Amino acid sequence: MGAHGAVQVEKRGPPKRTRYYTDRPFWLKRQLLLNDNNQAPTPSSHGAAAGSPLVVARNEHPISRAHISSNALKVLYRLRDAGFQAFLVGGAVRDLLLGLHPKDFDIATNAHPHEVKQLFRNCRLIGRRFHLAHVRFGYEIIEVATFRAAHTPIDEDNSVDEGGHRVLDERGRILRDNLYGTIEEDVWRRDFTANALYYNIEDFSVWDYVGGVQDARQRILRMIGDPETRYREDPVRMLRAVRFAAKLGFTIHADTAAPIPKLAWMLDGVPPARLFDEVNKIFLAGSAQAAFELLERLQLLEHLFPDLANALHDAPAGSGARELVRLGLQGTDERVREEKSVTPTFLFAVLMWPAIQRAFAKLARGNDGDPQQLLAACDQVTLRQQARVAIPKRFTLPLRELVGLQPRFERREGRRALRLLNHPRFRAAYDFLVLRAAAGEVDAELAKWWTDIQAASADERIAQVESIGPGPRTASDGPRRRRRRRRRRPPAAS
Ligand code: ATP
Ligand code: MG
Repeated sequence: MGAHGAVQVEKRGPPKRTRYYTDRPFWLKRQLLLNDNNQAPTPSSHGAAAGSPLVVARNEHPISRAHISSNALKVLYRLRDAGFQAFLVGGAVRDLLLGLHPKDFDIATNAHPHEVKQLFRNCRLIGRRFHLAHVRFGYEIIEVATFRAAHTPIDEDNSVDEGGHRVLDERGRILRDNLYGTIEEDVWRRDFTANALYYNIEDFSVWDYVGGVQDARQRILRMIGDPETRYREDPVRMLRAVRFAAKLGFTIHADTAAPIPKLAWMLDGVPPARLFDEVNKIFLAGSAQAAFELLERLQLLEHLFPDLANALHDAPAGSGARELVRLGLQGTDERVREEKSVTPTFLFAVLMWPAIQRAFAKLARGNDGDPQQLLAACDQVTLRQQARVAIPKRFTLPLRELVGLQPRFERREGRRALRLLNHPRFRAAYDFLVLRAAAGEVDAELAKWWTDIQAASADERIAQVESIGPGPRTASDGPRRRRRRRRRRPPAAS
């Protein structure tokens, strides 16, 4: 039964009965109803129309057109003027409701993809079987999706069948399915209640079939339907739960969180390329620290980063490894907040370093910590990590360099040390050194020396490196290179 009762509505067109958020007492009443036992919203039956929505009138919600992309508005208006239903959906409505800036603006409509294409010159249909329309305005792409029927996968990675047959694999995951539907059907295929809100361009109201407005207000992340079934259909929803909870500061509802540890293993069957995308979204959205804690608590981490999970498991609380990850993610979050660039290279270096260190310790046993072994450890860990999360080469290669440069920071004597400053990967490697120092893994004085030398003039730099004696050679210096004496050749006989 729908969250707001199974009042029958027409399949298309505006609902017959609408309800409006009006006054305070209403909110309070709803709040009292919310506890761990209240049921997740579910459709009255699979594929059947949901109940009528709560319609939140324009004057009862804070979403203003001034905050909606003008291109999205253009698309919405044109669809409406052509006689179609047109709604802003998903993250944009949720974010606007919360007073945040949406990343992108997605639209849902009852127009079929070819009808959308006819309306816009700058439109391309994408997707293999289930078509989505992309309307392009310079750099901005507005995605227009036709309402989909029950059980069609919302995710583009899942192919869909024109015949409309639902195909599940043996674990209950949706493989193929397709059928265009109505808004009442579309709503049940969305993941969380706060993600299932529809902003109607007709009268600027918000349609809410699942209690999403209320949940958003109370900052509760709640799965639509039976959480376990929904995770089985698409295990990535477990990661999406973590991502939204961390990013929005929502609490995952107890019923929504409960099945996750038990089903975490299902991530092992998700294509590693999709996991790479999701991991990036999780960690580069400005709330990596909170997300990491949730991933650990919900036992998802060991399926994304098994080597890291093992290394942290063995590391005592407050150890350098854990501290490095904590500080690394904290730094990433700060950079995102300050709108500085963040790269998957540095992020994955942070997330893989404890495992690299552990593999290095094993490899280096008995051979005095040859720095070449550090690269071998990096390669081992990268290879194993790729089996879970497919990190593209354009990130793993610089990551390898960043790792390989770490031992070189320990050599400060002689002009050779200065060459490191000109290395193309110096900056990232130096940042990583600073992080290691902050985590107590290397001497803070070493990091400071490299900080100071960057600010020094050319002459000062030379004086600095020459003032340092060769000192005792450490294993990380690597094998000493012998200089070959040039043999004087006897003058060639003419
Ligand atoms: P973001 O702000 O990160 O873009 P979003 O909520 O818009 O968040 P998207 O991945 O852009 O997330 O997806 C848009 C909408 O599509 C979601 O709000 C949700 O309603 C639906 N959706 C996306 N992926 C899934 C999924 N795997 N299962 C169910 N619904 C999904
Ligand atoms: Mg989005």
